[in-house]
Amino acid sequence: SETILEIKDLHVSFTTYGGEVQAVRGVNVTLNRGETLAIVGESGCGKTVTSQSIMRLTAGNITKGSIRFKGKDLTRLTEKQMRDIRGSDISMIFQDPMTSLNPTLTVGKQIIEGVERHQNISRHDAERLALEIFDWVGIANGKERLKQYPHQFSGGMRQRIMIAMALVCKPSILIADEPTTALDVTIQAQILELFKEIQRETGVSIILITHDMGVVAQVSDRIAIMYAGKVVEIGRRKDIFYRPQHPYTKGLLHSIPRMDSEEDELIPIPGTPPDLFSPPKGCPFVARCPFAMEVCEQYQPITTAISSDHAVDCWLQDERAKQVTFTGEV
Ligand code: SF4
Repeated sequence: SETILEIKDLHVSFTTYGGEVQAVRGVNVTLNRGETLAIVGESGCGKTVTSQSIMRLTAGNITKGSIRFKGKDLTRLTEKQMRDIRGSDISMIFQDPMTSLNPTLTVGKQIIEGVERHQNISRHDAERLALEIFDWVGIANGKERLKQYPHQFSGGMRQRIMIAMALVCKPSILIADEPTTALDVTIQAQILELFKEIQRETGVSIILITHDMGVVAQVSDRIAIMYAGKVVEIGRRKDIFYRPQHPYTKGLLHSIPRMDSEEDELIPIPGTPPDLFSPPKGCPFVARCPFAMEVCEQYQPITTAISSDHAVDCWLQDERAKQVTFTGEV
């Protein structure tokens, strides 16, 4: 399948009063046309910073690496060139629609303005397009609804409006950052179904940022697991769910609420992620890993291919681990 976006060796850091935080530390990931790639991890793992870097909306500094899209390196474009891409070629939707919707304008006005910003069409055509897209994302009585204000919609409906706004310019990539986290489970399932429908209809490629493996199970084609600013495992959905290799991935899978248990009890992974002011020398997961070996303390694991589309950063999968333990060097 055709690669539409390629992130190579991306490094992003934040300068704070306490020093430099290395939020993203060498991320490699590709997005194929028409697929949903989920980027999964706990808060602070770098998943949101990675996705914001694609849009060049991160407050951090991209210190190294490239993000290639349609023959261009997005990290090198001017702000004006990026403005043309944002919202038309690549769109983003967020967890809380209220932060991105203007409460003082009708939703119709906001959608139509969005269309007019990127497309040279008449108001009348913009209105028609807005109605069409409302219909598409499952908002009935479009004509009436367009005249209403954001607070007159439920949470699920507001998320549908955000999706409509993100799609109105027919982007080739849609980035959705925790799009269903604020919604109850039934509405969440409906919104995820909507993503799939939209993808079938338009062929849009989706990057889904989430901490929720249940959401990932429902919609993703491929999954990248992030930990402490790195992708520690990447693979197709069935690789990650049925043949997980990284101890952290296995831990995440165990923290899915069990359908058969009375309370939806999560078994969390004990411990906390490392401090990214001073990232550990070896494997970032070493302090929480039940399988940690001596080599893990000293050396960062190197990416090992399990198959042509499944890879993991863990010494357990690396033949050289034994050797390294014996000789003390890689
Ligand atoms: Fe655990 Fe070592 Fe693998 Fe890191 S490299 S996940 S510490 S076994």
